[in-house]
Amino acid sequence: MNKIPDIGFGLWKVSPQDCRDVVIEAIKAGYRHFDCAADYGNEQQVGDGLKAAFDQGLVAREDLWITSKLWNSYHHPDHVEAACQKSMTDLGLDYLDLYLIHFPIALAYVPIETRYPAEWLVDPEAENPVMQRASVPLHETWAALEKLVDKGLVRQIGVCNYISGLVHDLMSYARIKPAMLQIEAHPYLTQEKLIRLATQYGIPVTAFSPLAALSYVELDMAGQADSVLTEAVVSQAAAAHGKTPAQIVLRWAIQRGTAIIPKSSNPQRMRENLALTDFALSESEMADISALNANRRFNDPGEFCEGAFGLFNPIYD
Ligand code: NAP
Repeated sequence: MNKIPDIGFGLWKVSPQDCRDVVIEAIKAGYRHFDCAADYGNEQQVGDGLKAAFDQGLVAREDLWITSKLWNSYHHPDHVEAACQKSMTDLGLDYLDLYLIHFPIALAYVPIETRYPAEWLVDPEAENPVMQRASVPLHETWAALEKLVDKGLVRQIGVCNYISGLVHDLMSYARIKPAMLQIEAHPYLTQEKLIRLATQYGIPVTAFSPLAALSYVELDMAGQADSVLTEAVVSQAAAAHGKTPAQIVLRWAIQRGTAIIPKSSNPQRMRENLALTDFALSESEMADISALNANRRFNDPGEFCEGAFGLFNPIYD
């Protein structure tokens, strides 16, 4: 596949037990892009699902777009290829379509054989476990990703969770330009300047957590009352178009030009989230939904790292 589909499937928090069947179901529903990551702890099970789909003749490898991400513990150039190979082995693939730097955060190395996925702590069994930074400049990590492209292991490379300053910096040294910027974006966090800058540089953008708070309720990082789906402008548009509020929010995202990767383990919602192309929002509906922006970020290391991993570690401020 030469181009990333507008609507892909997110795999964060899909449990390893469910993951194989979820992937098969998503392929049957019509998803062709799978957004994976070492950190999601389910790449082996994604691989099981892909293998079953290939064996059943549901889809061929070349008709899929598979993204994975380099975890923070493997930023040092000595560890990048092994981390990528581990994801590819788990996924049962001999190339990735897209490989992304997961966060602009380098953490102390944890060997794959010691603990995998490494997550945020060097030693979770320690008396006072803390997150430990590593001094690895991002340009060195990027150069190691470029070598993966040179070797044919990955077709395209990109970044997640970069702010404008980091995008300018990356563009100044990248021999292979980033093919994707993946960021949190939804009506409460519209990221207009960052998306405009990426567009200026010709970098496509993927919006993660496109349904905003919904993904964070199960983590106790948001409440049901934070849902964007109950906003009046969203429910009015849903009624006007005969669509669900989720479809309105997702349509808004693709209509403004971002790719999306919604996650659902529910077959009906999987299909719902793909059915976005038989209607369009009016200019005023688009503007009203964009006006919900509150610069509200749900996935913020500056918030969760200190409480969960013992280190104050903002990256957006
Ligand atoms: P999301 O896709 O916006 O929301 C998922 C949540 O919404 C789940 O609780 C899901 O529950 C529910 N849901 C899905 N469709 C729905 C619908 N039509 N109506 C009502 N509820 C619905 O959030 P996300 O998983 O955080 O983000 C999507 C993907 O982005 C992730 O899976 C991951 O691949 C990627 N991501 C990347 C980063 C990064 O740092 N690069 C960070 C976060 C996420 P059910 O499963 O029960 O349907």
